[in-house]
Amino acid sequence: MRILVINCGSSSIKYKLYGVEVGDCLAEGIIEGIGAPNARHRHRVGDWETAVEVSVTDYHSGVARIVEALLEWGPVPPVADSREIVGVGHRVVHGGERFSASVIIDPAVMETIEGLDSLAPLHNPANRAGIEAAGALLPGATGVAVFDTAFFSTLPERAYRYAVPAHWWRRHGVRRYGFHGISHRYLVERASEVLGKPRPNLVTFHLGAGASACAVRRGRAVDTSMGMTPLEGLVMGTRSGDLDPAVVFHLLEAGLSASEIRRGLEREGGLLGLSGISSDFRRLAEATRAGDPSAALAVEVFVHRIRRYLGAFLVQAAPCDGVVFSGGIGENSPEVRRRALEGLEDLGLALDLSRNGGEGERRISAAGSPISAWVIPTDEESLIARDTVRLVVGGQV
Ligand code: ADP
Repeated sequence: MRILVINCGSSSIKYKLYGVEVGDCLAEGIIEGIGAPNARHRHRVGDWETAVEVSVTDYHSGVARIVEALLEWGPVPPVADSREIVGVGHRVVHGGERFSASVIIDPAVMETIEGLDSLAPLHNPANRAGIEAAGALLPGATGVAVFDTAFFSTLPERAYRYAVPAHWWRRHGVRRYGFHGISHRYLVERASEVLGKPRPNLVTFHLGAGASACAVRRGRAVDTSMGMTPLEGLVMGTRSGDLDPAVVFHLLEAGLSASEIRRGLEREGGLLGLSGISSDFRRLAEATRAGDPSAALAVEVFVHRIRRYLGAFLVQAAPCDGVVFSGGIGENSPEVRRRALEGLEDLGLALDLSRNGGEGERRISAAGSPISAWVIPTDEESLIARDTVRLVVGGQV
């Protein structure tokens, strides 16, 4: 029995295949550039890897290619018959107020997800397209939706409400939902294991192209930096994160259109906007080393915002057991971790510089630091697979 995990983005499909005993992944890949003239399909089975240019016009043909690759590619394809795939776990970005846990997908669930399209216009329609494609191509497999918002269903009202007219919330759904919940939940589960504490108090950071922080008390999310949409909070690759909402009407009154402002905040802001060079942290780190002042400033603002949330969330999570770094930047940049944690010994958080480098899951705080610090590589797909197994096959994996 196999479990397929599918993550449909706005122009890509990432996937991983697991056995029902979710441990090592048996195959994985990505199709990028869906709808573009030259889409690219990378597929790996064990040590065997291939990358080919393909024509993939939509999610249905993308999922069809993935099923074909799993059945036919590599010296030993991991699936002999598509009926071996008993469950398909889908990452769904927005579950609104309705979904506080993963669910088996049925027509009513699909209708509810569709009703949330306006809150996640780039993501939920792509997620639904992936669900429909998998349903048609693997009719024997049970679909499971795993929501990026679900982990934040435990936020208290004081954390999820904005101080705006109450009818905006009731009529238009204006509240904080939080995102990256699959990653933060994974980090909390792993941190609980490495700390040997069933319900830890934590501050978790997912720092990738998108970036978010989460305050956790007794294993549950109590606050998060992302808001009604994934635009709020930390500085991201191209997203501004926090800003004074008056900026928006100031710019409207100055003659910019709503779509220009949206583009500036979502696609041309963040590290890219600040530096004018790139949204990619590695390139900014190189440019900083080469002496570029705007790249250095972008990194400085990025770290400053992390420290702002760290301070706020250490209070929310007090007495805090640990701070966790994850995501492409959080896992791979010792520099960001060092600068984020600099000078916090009096708050009980002391980094051990000799542990800050290195790779993989590890503690990076000094022995005896009352609050420990960790690097935990996130693994959203394995969590989606585990939820899928639990709902489709039953039992705890
Ligand atoms: P996504 O949110 O798309 O999954 P990732 O978690 O892969 O993104 O993170 C992408 C970010 O991580 C990019 O800004 C990239 O430059 C950064 N990154 C990846 N490797 C390193 C590294 N070795 N050092 C610093 N930054 C890195």
